[in-house]
Amino acid sequence: MDIDAIKRDYDIFTRDESLIYLDSCATSLTPRIVTAKLLEYYNSYNANIARGAYKASTKATEEFEMSRKVVANFLNAQLEEVVFTSGTTASLNMIAHGLTSQISNTDNIVVTAMEHHANFIPWQQLCEHTHADFRVAPITDDGLLDTDQLLELIDENTKILALTHVSNVLGTINPIKELTQKVRAKNQNTLIVVDAAQSVAHMKLDVADVDCDFLAFSMHKLFGPTGVGVLYGKKEHLEKLTPIFTGGEMIQEVTTACTTFRELPHRLEAGTPHIAGVIASQEAIAYAKSFGFEKIREHEKELLTYCTNNLVENFGDDIKIFGPCDISLRSGAISFTLKNHHPHDIATILDDKKNVAIRAGQHCAMPLHLETLKTNATARVSFSVYNTKADIDAFIDGLKKVDEILS
Ligand code: PLP
Repeated sequence: MDIDAIKRDYDIFTRDESLIYLDSCATSLTPRIVTAKLLEYYNSYNANIARGAYKASTKATEEFEMSRKVVANFLNAQLEEVVFTSGTTASLNMIAHGLTSQISNTDNIVVTAMEHHANFIPWQQLCEHTHADFRVAPITDDGLLDTDQLLELIDENTKILALTHVSNVLGTINPIKELTQKVRAKNQNTLIVVDAAQSVAHMKLDVADVDCDFLAFSMHKLFGPTGVGVLYGKKEHLEKLTPIFTGGEMIQEVTTACTTFRELPHRLEAGTPHIAGVIASQEAIAYAKSFGFEKIREHEKELLTYCTNNLVENFGDDIKIFGPCDISLRSGAISFTLKNHHPHDIATILDDKKNVAIRAGQHCAMPLHLETLKTNATARVSFSVYNTKADIDAFIDGLKKVDEILS
């Protein structure tokens, strides 16, 4: 990949040439092609969708529905199985709340110890409200999902298994397809919900192949705008999902006696969506596809290997890297601690002294940090197509400076 040329796709690097952005797990940078599409909507056909009988509204509606086609094609899903939301968090909450009436106190819901809060709390809350049993599958010492123990938690009363495709802390890639098959062999009625927030920008997703029941992701992790998410669900399950948002655009008929809802996907899309964001999402997906996921993965593995080796060579036993050692089992992120230096201090000094942007804290995974990893916080670097080995060199140099200052 020609990274110099890729960097030129982003105005942010033109404005700040020294920026080393290593926080793509939190949000990816947005290429000009996507911001241009956002502006195109506002400057050329700014109108609400599916409402006006005039040209701009028709054009906006067509572009919006074109994005649905692009997402459906990207996921290998049917058109009506793609619902636009405001992000992964919204999608997962819509699934959990929308399933409430299908859960009883004899059921159980299984999640994993490596979930982001967005795929943990909604299920925990659902169990609290319905008195269903909340079960958490552990991870192994090397940061992999303990699939044997997970399968032991699945029984005839397991209504839902909600798990992340890629951990935003450990980088672990979970074998979703294989797990789906094994879970189905134990209980064919267990609904499998996949949080694809961290995998969507790194590997090809194929919902038909994986055979999950629901899947969620955010466009802002895939070169797209913030405030746009996707909720994929198999048609049969989306049809049974209670809409948690009701209001404009999702109804068929409203009388003072009752309301009937529209067909999918509109019944789950109440109110005015982030029209510009959804429209610009088609460009974000086209941009990701222009590299090809094999190339993206190859580049990411190269950076992961280079960064891991450099951390170990330069800091030896002082650095603790969380997650699997085998790079083939991990994706875009490396979380670490360095001596007793507080991760927030590490991140602040890196920013201040070297203009290197990394993440610090618990990365919305408090149970994982406090109960499993037994650490208060970690620092995290994560990569995307615009990162180079030189970025990693700058980060390592910066980390040496951090160590000097804090030791
Ligand atoms: N799930 C995972 C694994 C994540 O990493 C994130 C965000 O970092 C989310 C869910 C939540 O995504 P959003 O904040 O876009 O809703």
